[in-house]
Amino acid sequence: MRKKQFAVIGMGRFGSSVAQALSEMGFEVLAIDSDEERIQDMAPIVTHAVSADTTDEEALRAIGIRNFDVVVVAIGEDIQASILTTLILKDLGVPKLIVKAQNELHGKVLGKIGADRVIYPERDMGLRVAHHLISPSVLDFIELTPEHGIIEFEAPGAMIGRTIKQLDIRAKYQCNVLGIKAGGHMDITPMPDQVIRSGDVLVIVGANKDLLRLEVEFDVQREVKSR
Ligand code: ATP
Repeated sequence: MRKKQFAVIGMGRFGSSVAQALSEMGFEVLAIDSDEERIQDMAPIVTHAVSADTTDEEALRAIGIRNFDVVVVAIGEDIQASILTTLILKDLGVPKLIVKAQNELHGKVLGKIGADRVIYPERDMGLRVAHHLISPSVLDFIELTPEHGIIEFEAPGAMIGRTIKQLDIRAKYQCNVLGIKAGGHMDITPMPDQVIRSGDVLVIVGANKDLLRLEVEFDVQREVKSR
């Protein structure tokens, strides 16, 4: 099967990280930026690096941008350039267009003009960091929608020795325990009478506000203080 080809536009911190990660995963990556210096920096890292102003339709045509399977637009600050670039790429018939948004309004516009996926890296990272700050035992947070996510955390003291039923997570917090990891094994069908043991890692899905409430109420502040 032919390897997927990616083009990443905008070599700021986010765009260059995406380009580098894709390249390390073995994909063909074209990096594009209007700044010649940034292109020179990326040249050794990606398959191809070209300098072009992507608000210029002819320049994008000349690059053959429509032949790429996925195009990521990571122009952040210059919202006008981001919107124009997205519009042109959509017109040129790029199969999959992923665009970084600076804020909600920018994201809304991008969705309306045909971006297949709008991403908010700063906001997502902020949310992740917030979970880590509230609960140092949160190992990971995955956003499912802007309002919902999955958290993974090591069972705090207040949960240990109690069963899922006793903790009453579903009724009290409207969250669901998806799985419990223990000793390298993942149980994806935990039973209500399963006892939480020290060192168990719980994977829970719910609304962000409920997850945060659960994290706070299970006495994680005490752990923060004792650190
Ligand atoms: P980050 O926070 O990820 O560093 P940012 O949101 O600050 O990025 P910018 O620095 O504004 O994003 O833009 C990222 C890159 O996009 C810059 O290297 C800039 O040169 C490039 N860029 C901006 N406008 C265009 C354009 N019209 N054509 C091509 N590249 C562009």
